[in-house]
Amino acid sequence: MLTIDQVRSEKIPAVREVDILVVGGGTAGAVAGIAAARQGLKTLVVEQLGFLGGTQTGALVTPMMPNQIDEIPLNSGIDREINDRLIAKMESGVWKDGNRGWFNPEMLKLELERMNVEAGAELLYYSFFEDVIMKGSSVQGIIVTNKAGRQVLLAKQTIDCTGDADVALQAGVPCESGDPNTKLNQPFSVRFHLGNVDLKRFGEFLRSLGRHDVMESAEGTDVTLLHTAMVWGKGWTLEPLFRKAVEEGILNESDGNYFQAFSMAGRPGEVAFNCPRISTGIDGTDPFHLTKAQIKGRAITQRYVDFCRKYLPGFEDAYLVFTAPMVGVRESRRIRGEYYLTVDDVLGAKKFPDAICRNNYPLDIHRDKDDDALKIVKLPKGEYHEVPYRCLVPLKAENLLVAGRCLSASFEAQSSVRIQTNCRAMGEAAAVAAAMAIRKGITPRDVDGIELRRELVKRGASL
Ligand SMILES: Cc1cc2nc3c(=O)[nH]c(=O)nc-3n(C[C@H](O)[C@H](O)[C@H](O)COP(=O)(O)OP(=O)(O)OC[C@H]3O[C@@H](n4cnc5c(N)ncnc54)[C@H](O)[C@@H]3O)c2cc1C
Repeated sequence: MLTIDQVRSEKIPAVREVDILVVGGGTAGAVAGIAAARQGLKTLVVEQLGFLGGTQTGALVTPMMPNQIDEIPLNSGIDREINDRLIAKMESGVWKDGNRGWFNPEMLKLELERMNVEAGAELLYYSFFEDVIMKGSSVQGIIVTNKAGRQVLLAKQTIDCTGDADVALQAGVPCESGDPNTKLNQPFSVRFHLGNVDLKRFGEFLRSLGRHDVMESAEGTDVTLLHTAMVWGKGWTLEPLFRKAVEEGILNESDGNYFQAFSMAGRPGEVAFNCPRISTGIDGTDPFHLTKAQIKGRAITQRYVDFCRKYLPGFEDAYLVFTAPMVGVRESRRIRGEYYLTVDDVLGAKKFPDAICRNNYPLDIHRDKDDDALKIVKLPKGEYHEVPYRCLVPLKAENLLVAGRCLSASFEAQSSVRIQTNCRAMGEAAAVAAAMAIRKGITPRDVDGIELRRELVKRGASL
């Protein structure tokens, strides 16, 4: 944490002064950038990688999980607009239950970039958030490290969309991480894609086995959407093949703790894998852990490649397209904000006057242990809960908002709310709130959540 005077005395060049600074151009941040710039405010999105989308595009996390009732998505706004744009280009598919986010990550990168640029946001890639600049408890901007050295970016309002609450932590916001009972974080996954897959044959094979999803795509799109998985002891029809592969030494026993595969729109002949899963004492804010996971993930991927080629019809000539350049981190630091969302709020379908998004995705906790490798707890049928604006307003720091998976929520509540449609909705809400604060000359803590909700509805949110 530095003051402006310290920054001046260290002669760190101030290269931008903006209205809204979005730190992290991922799932929430890319949307925050669009929403902020559309309000005519000078907006800068800072991202450590060379593209937008974060976990969606860098960690290859496709598809978006369903969050809807009677086939109607619970969130709308820019989230819907992005999906519509990709569906129109046949770069996203629609599930049989109406979920609209079965997307091609490469085209999502492009679309997010286009939407930011069209809206007038400036993007700054290859720049890593290093420290925060404070005046008392008020965030004045940040310092980034990049090829040019250290640079100062000043802003009236800052939105922390790093997924790990990096800015909030440096600004003195109390944070927590992991399951308070086990002290463990949810496992990482290092995802990969296989190409040259005969999806028709693979689909027929899955149909012949029984438990899977094979469906036709949205009207006008010519893709078959496939989904299958295997977790030891959960009744998946691929289990005998996994057992045989373990006996033959092609897979390790732990490779069957979690295996999941999806096809996607816009990438014919390609399958995306939601594995390998890397657990045991990992922390998404420890660069050594992230490095180990990337190395271990690539090694395990080779075993899955051999398994798929040998055991799964349609994969005989498959090749590894790529492994994700970014480790998939399900949960790390979470802020403590004006409201702390709990598991009772989620499962009790709690509503709030200052709601900024709606969710009915279940609690979804991945674990290490074989006897409870995946805990899914659904909300009562037809119910949803809301996330209040106050979950984005951190304690102890002014002129700062936080959006995305690091919102103010308990470990269990976060396991449900962390899905992509909600992160996008949080990004949009944070940007609209930041703009209201600028217009009124107040701090985000004093933004009226009910007025914010009305403003979001005007902008297309279904709240
Ligand atoms: C393995 C896995 C599977 C999942 N499966 C699904 C699924 O099927 N469907 C679904 O809807 N959700 C799923 N999720 C959840 C969902 O994808 C994430 O919770 C969500 O994408 C997180 O969004 P975010 O904006 O909080 O973070 P991110 O999208 O990760 O964005 C953070 C951004 O900040 C950047 N950044 C971080 N630190 C810095 C820094 N210091 N300086 C500069 N830039 C920085 C990052 O590069 C990144 O671009 C899954 C998550 C994982 C990990």
